Amino acid sequence: MDLGANLRAELVKAVATTIESHAEELTTLDQAIGDGDHGLNMKRGFDAVLADVASLSAKPWPDFLKGVGTMLVMKVGGASGPLYGTLFMGLGKDLPAEPGRADLVRAFRGAVTAVQARGKSERGQKTMLDVLIPVAEALEAGTFEPAAIARAAHAAADATIPVKAVRGRASFLGERSIGHMDPGARSSALLIEAVGSVLENS
Ligand code: ADP
Ligand code: MG
Repeated sequence: MDLGANLRAELVKAVATTIESHAEELTTLDQAIGDGDHGLNMKRGFDAVLADVASLSAKPWPDFLKGVGTMLVMKVGGASGPLYGTLFMGLGKDLPAEPGRADLVRAFRGAVTAVQARGKSERGQKTMLDVLIPVAEALEAGTFEPAAIARAAHAAADATIPVKAVRGRASFLGERSIGHMDPGARSSALLIEAVGSVLENS
């Protein structure tokens, strides 16, 4: 039995399950400050990844992650599809076939930097980066306990509520984007929590 393939399949199932069970919530968040499709977009993308889990998880880590990223670009759509696609493809580009903890920290930071370049965006603009950047920092600071990372990610998503959006569709609302959680920040926190809970038990 290939332990890596098993773990990759578990990760796919966990992220698809969390997106599935929070799709409505993500859509509701996007209805408040966007066009109400984030849950649907994410579910379409992760359902497609799940449908292909057997062949994706049989590939080594770099190809697996690139495959997931490519699928997300093709299926999620919207602004978030290319950005999540960039995140996963970036991880695939940087990780060696047998990654260790230090590789993961470095690759995660590289992938987040690629998302910033793709989105022409920074922290503090009420996007997924408001979660991804603090998580990269926590990993770099040596926090690896999945529950602690998940707590930090959810706190970072909550912290987008009082922020005025300056990127993405929500920025069209200006001041009226204040008072709502960013949907992409919420989906990022959910994905990070799901990945962490699988890695914790692996
Ligand atoms: P769309 O906005 O095209 O309808 P989604 O609703 O699927 O796409 O995704 C919206 C999310 O994408 C936002 O909540 C935000 O987190 C993220 N996002 C949008 N634009 C950017 C950007 N330039 N940089 C980083 N994240 C972004
Ligand atoms: Mg949307």
